[in-house]
Amino acid sequence: MTYSLAIHGGAGTILKSTMTPEREAAYHAGLTCALEAGRSVLAAGGSALDAVAASVMALEDEPLFNAGRGAVYNAAGVQEMDACIMDGRDRRTGAVAGIFGPKNPVLAARAVMERTSHVLMIAEGALAVARDAGLDFADRDYFFTAARWQALQDTLAMRAASAEDDDPARRHGTVGAVARDSAGNVAAATSTGGMTGKTPGRVGDCPVVGGGTFADNATCAVSGTGHGEVFIRWCAAHEISARMRHAGQSLVAAADWVVMRDLAENDGSGGLIAVDSAGTVTMPFNSEGMYRGMIELGGPSQTFIYR
Ligand code: ASP
Repeated sequence: MTYSLAIHGGAGTILKSTMTPEREAAYHAGLTCALEAGRSVLAAGGSALDAVAASVMALEDEPLFNAGRGAVYNAAGVQEMDACIMDGRDRRTGAVAGIFGPKNPVLAARAVMERTSHVLMIAEGALAVARDAGLDFADRDYFFTAARWQALQDTLAMRAASAEDDDPARRHGTVGAVARDSAGNVAAATSTGGMTGKTPGRVGDCPVVGGGTFADNATCAVSGTGHGEVFIRWCAAHEISARMRHAGQSLVAAADWVVMRDLAENDGSGGLIAVDSAGTVTMPFNSEGMYRGMIELGGPSQTFIYR
């Protein structure tokens, strides 16, 4: 048995016409770095759980992506981050919502999973768990990026003029990873700043088990990115697993149905990455592009942006 890994750095209005070659190269480099962080775990015989945590940490550390450093701002100019990690061996899960402080929110989610008897924590309680776990914290300067701040100003200006385009694809982004290790176990992790200009207190799909994140060895591991409210309402990540389990669909057929029908037909722009227990990877999306990468069955690292 060998390993598979897939990652995403968000889906949305990603147009080649608005990209410079330098910027495009930086995205590919960031994705490759995250793939290699996960590969080094998996190639050494490590667990899918450790691999998805390593890949997501690399993406959180990269300011180009909307998670950790580089997270987007809510309508009040504050960064509120959501993260989740799930182990397909036993569906153990940890998640945090609306937090600010831990450098790597995915590690805060993992601390909830490993150090408490809970699944989802918010506010001071979540931060206390992260502190007790000895995680690194950072300040506003560390998390600040001029591009995200400007994106908020643009959104607020459009809103004030009642001219906000209603395309949520412009405002989202997220990072995630799914893996299947050489022992046949799967895991998923997702981390995000959410959507630019979101209402303070809004929680997206990322920390909602079965919405934006899901893992079960019996079927697959899934990490989503897109219009979170629609992913939650359609239980997108779990729906893929359910279609495999109850209807006998393949990973690819189940994931395509959810992204191209359930989500696309209900204003749910976005996409997802998924791996099944045999190591098959699929990365469907219904938006213009999705930053993504994969290593299928121990093969080469491949990264993609557009369709
Ligand atoms: N799904 C995320 C959220 O709604 C945003 C994204 O993935 O683009 O918070």
